[in-house]
Amino acid sequence: MKQYDAECPVCGRINKGLYLEETGGWMECEACGNEVKVRKIRPTQSDTEASMPQYTFMQMQHC
Ligand SMILES: [Zn+2]
Repeated sequence: MKQYDAECPVCGRINKGLYLEETGGWMECEACGNEVKVRKIRPTQSDTEASMPQYTFMQMQHC
């Protein structure tokens, strides 16, 4: 079973080690307690992909 890190759309907190495949993408946020369907996820296991900087995308837009 794959674990994911997911950003809470309500408060922005990263919740780690979630089994999103089991819940269909839903989680209970550890920070605000809301049950939310996550939109931003990333696999916990692949460090190289998870550490891909988000600003790369922004730099491309500035070209
Ligand atoms: Zn939250």
